[in-house]
Amino acid sequence: MPILNRVGLFGGTFNPIHFGHLRTALETLEGFGLDQIRFIPAADPPHKDKTDLADESDRLAMLTQAIENNPSFLVSDIELQRPGRSYTVDTVKQFTREKLPSTQCFLIIGLDAFMDISTWKDYKEILNNIPLIVMSRPGENEPCMNRNFSGIGKYVENRISSGFVFNREQNAFVHKSLKPIYIFPVTSLHISATTIRQHVRQGRSIRYLVPDSVATYIHDKRLYT
Ligand code: ATP
Repeated sequence: MPILNRVGLFGGTFNPIHFGHLRTALETLEGFGLDQIRFIPAADPPHKDKTDLADESDRLAMLTQAIENNPSFLVSDIELQRPGRSYTVDTVKQFTREKLPSTQCFLIIGLDAFMDISTWKDYKEILNNIPLIVMSRPGENEPCMNRNFSGIGKYVENRISSGFVFNREQNAFVHKSLKPIYIFPVTSLHISATTIRQHVRQGRSIRYLVPDSVATYIHDKRLYT
């Protein structure tokens, strides 16, 4: 086993995994000098509409195939093994206290997910335990990525804690007692799993939006039709 100094935890529904996840994860790995990223599919995501949700085993299989050629990318089935809803706070505690207690872990999330974090269970507890890396993402929250991140700053101040201050050198909101929130601009890839599922339903190609192995899996298993 390699020595792990810095690990990124990247949770999501991955319904299915797409290049918007993969490319941005790679840029985050490089940008933060991470040794590994663990992709963590949610069993029962609290914030998602479940009508279109593929089985856990299918989402896990697609994820595993998508990352198999990258030794720095790993899948963790920790949320699939845990009964009940998949709360990030539980996953973070499991990793930082039990699984990787002497490794610096980071929680990686996209901007859209971050701008909703104050609705997550025990969100302050998350920030007590782990630094966040917020990746930019095209969409309605994109204006928040303006030059000094003032939109994000307002959200952080009003919804999380007024004790956060922006530190330009670190490109992060820092706090006396909570962990930092790093803001990380990545290549804008206007790709979402929702669009991919729509394309499949409409009989349109999803090639170049997802790895070929994922497109083949969806086709063979007739997912999202
Ligand atoms: P859906 O369209 O079904 O809501 P999604 O494409 O947002 O799904 P998720 O699995 O919910 O995919 O996303 C997991 C994490 O990856 C979230 O933190 C999300 O913000 C981030 N993410 C997803 N797609 C992108 C993208 N294109 N660029 C940057 N971050 C992304």
